[in-house]
Amino acid sequence: MERLDAFMARANAAYYASRDPFADFTTAPEISQVFGELLGLWAAELWMAMGEPGAVVLAEAGPGRGTLMADALRAIRQAAPAFGRALRLHLVETSPRLRAAQAEKLPEAAWHDRIEDLPPGPLLLLANEFFDALPIRQFVRRGQGWTERFVERGRFVEGPSSLSAPVCGAGRDEAGEATRPEGTIVEYPQAARPLVSTLAARLVEQGGAALLLDYGPERPGPGDSLQALRAGRPADPLADPGGADLTAHVDFPALAAAARAAGAAVFGPVPQGLFLARLGLFQRTGRLARQNPARAASLRNAAARLAEPDQMGRLFKAMAICHPALPHPSGFAA
Ligand code: SAH
Repeated sequence: MERLDAFMARANAAYYASRDPFADFTTAPEISQVFGELLGLWAAELWMAMGEPGAVVLAEAGPGRGTLMADALRAIRQAAPAFGRALRLHLVETSPRLRAAQAEKLPEAAWHDRIEDLPPGPLLLLANEFFDALPIRQFVRRGQGWTERFVERGRFVEGPSSLSAPVCGAGRDEAGEATRPEGTIVEYPQAARPLVSTLAARLVEQGGAALLLDYGPERPGPGDSLQALRAGRPADPLADPGGADLTAHVDFPALAAAARAAGAAVFGPVPQGLFLARLGLFQRTGRLARQNPARAASLRNAAARLAEPDQMGRLFKAMAICHPALPHPSGFAA
């Protein structure tokens, strides 16, 4: 019997170490080059707002194939060459296989296993579809209390929880948790929450900002959001640990509360479509399309895929965690 977060950590470590995740799902930077370019320019603007420090860590958590960062750096070198000279590139990646893919596109990078291992100093961190892969716990309402979900031989079993009260996102109505109907499932971001606390404390102490893009509702309710994807299709998340990518909705309010408790300023979450449109997704796509008429239709389709509410525009969200003295970052309404 293994607690769900331990199962998820083990399954995803095996999955990312042995498989090409992009055979099973695609991500925003693989859909359009404009995604990474806009995030690079977002970071450049923050660097200017920070007073243009002569040395800054530009980091990405879970860089996949390295596409986002390669697109970001190209835009940075063109639009903000001084930032290009000041930045030191650091990547957080545990999979040796993906590190090798990243090294082909980003040979100048240094790699780390954990965000906590990034070198000190001002930091600008980007993370797209990283937090959804981090282990969660699930609790089930039984009688007057809660049980916890464990995994045994490919199935869920319920057992006593080490926690006396449900530890749902701090953004939720905690008093309401006591009156949930029998069988209600609630989730807790077991790995992401302490990670965001540590990251926010570091940003407050040493300066900088982090931009998280991931999928999850604005106001998470109860429910089981654990899912597995194989070859683009939903699969049983417990059946074959390491054979499919396991993700869960990111609990943005819980992570925002953890960051605020550490003294950081939080912006968003806002829907990804709105965020990218505010950063100039359609203008930049239009410009590229005019320069490459043969690719115009596919560039416009890609932008629509990222921004349309019924595609990735609404379920995906952007949230920024910033040093409290920084001005309001682009993409988040004042
Ligand atoms: N950001 C990329 C890839 C998303 S897939 C994109 O948008 O295309 C998730 C990425 O996070 C992979 O690179 C995976 O190896 C990495 N990853 C997942 N869990 C991790 C963990 N606990 N520590 C470090 N990297 C992790």
